Amino acid sequence: MRIGTPLSPNALRVMLLGAGEIGKEVIIALQRLGVEVIAVDRYVDAPGHQVAHRAHVISMSDPIALRALIEAERPHLVVPEIEAIATEVLLEVEAEGLVEVIPTARAALLTMDREGIRRLVAETLGVPTSPFRFADSEDELRASIEREIGYPCLVKPVMSSSGKGQSLLEGPDDIAKAWAHASAGSRVDRGRVIVEGFIDFEYEITLLTVRANDGAGKIATYFCEPVGHRQLGGDYVESWQPQAMSVRARRRAEEIAAMVTGNLGGRGLFGVELFVRGDEVWFSEISPRPHDTGLVTLCSQRFSEFELHARAILGLPVDVCLREPGASAVIYGGVDGTAIAFEGVAEALAVPRSDLRLFGKPEAFARRRMGVAVANADDVAEARRRASLAASLVRPVRD
Ligand code: AMP
Repeated sequence: MRIGTPLSPNALRVMLLGAGEIGKEVIIALQRLGVEVIAVDRYVDAPGHQVAHRAHVISMSDPIALRALIEAERPHLVVPEIEAIATEVLLEVEAEGLVEVIPTARAALLTMDREGIRRLVAETLGVPTSPFRFADSEDELRASIEREIGYPCLVKPVMSSSGKGQSLLEGPDDIAKAWAHASAGSRVDRGRVIVEGFIDFEYEITLLTVRANDGAGKIATYFCEPVGHRQLGGDYVESWQPQAMSVRARRRAEEIAAMVTGNLGGRGLFGVELFVRGDEVWFSEISPRPHDTGLVTLCSQRFSEFELHARAILGLPVDVCLREPGASAVIYGGVDGTAIAFEGVAEALAVPRSDLRLFGKPEAFARRRMGVAVANADDVAEARRRASLAASLVRPVRD
């Protein structure tokens, strides 16, 4: 893959499907390497639109619109940043040799809903996961829980991520509410849910795993230091790196991550989400792209997960080394409204060794992620304290 000059006939062109805060950082990393970037999202002025060479607004789950845009732009690489994409188009354009899909069209297809990846990992690869069943109606859900899964358990729409439509069930009285909540929280109302037995883990990690050129032209697998994180209602609120792990748990986590990413194939960075208790490790989920909990790497690694992804997809070698302990804490909208403003930015940046990203989203909701604070320290505990303090000092307000 040859890097040319952006906006000239020999430009290397990359199209991001999804241009949120994760896409925005990937775009900036690609721009720094002289790549021409086309950002696509379903709403105007998405964060990544604001830093790309060209911006398009389409529904990426519309196969006709997606195909037409790929044919018009003729990117060399198509990089999905979200799950809700007409993956049949990705399979077609990859098979026709029109573009290369990152990491592969099959990976996008398998991870677009919870069922494809869960069946691959648990049934085909035999990796430990929570016990699970799928259900298409409230009655089926009740039967699966009563006969097989038991309580406590979690119900999630198959077409969802980040805790949307997810419920924790303690007993039979919670079933009807969980079914209704899942239907409302599904990205596409397919009315299908996964019910998972509750894993009583000690901590959870994201193992950022990179498939990249080993410098001699072959693909090798590299692991960043584990990222620890805390979730609230299924959404990440803070993360840190490194998360301490036993030697055996670490080895097991890397084995699982290598197996799953090896099966999905291609090049790029993956976020492998794992639950850990003692030396025991369970697979939870995988993103075939940078992960939100990996925002911490903006301060903790020599190259952030976004820079690693950019290098890996361009066929370049990577360096996954940790620079120093760090943490990230999410800044939520707190208010609903468009064109909001941020107060307290100077106070936040006065926190020792802190930094901020304000994503520039045109519209805020109380629980929408509008920015992130990151901070370094000699140890993770102090880094967490600083990142949380910096995040808490930023106050989104209606102008
Ligand atoms: P998910 O949307 O599947 O990534 O779930 C969001 C978060 O909910 C996870 O990061 C965990 O903190 C929690 N969670 C999900 N599934 C389980 C499970 N089977 N057992 C325990 N906690 C879970």
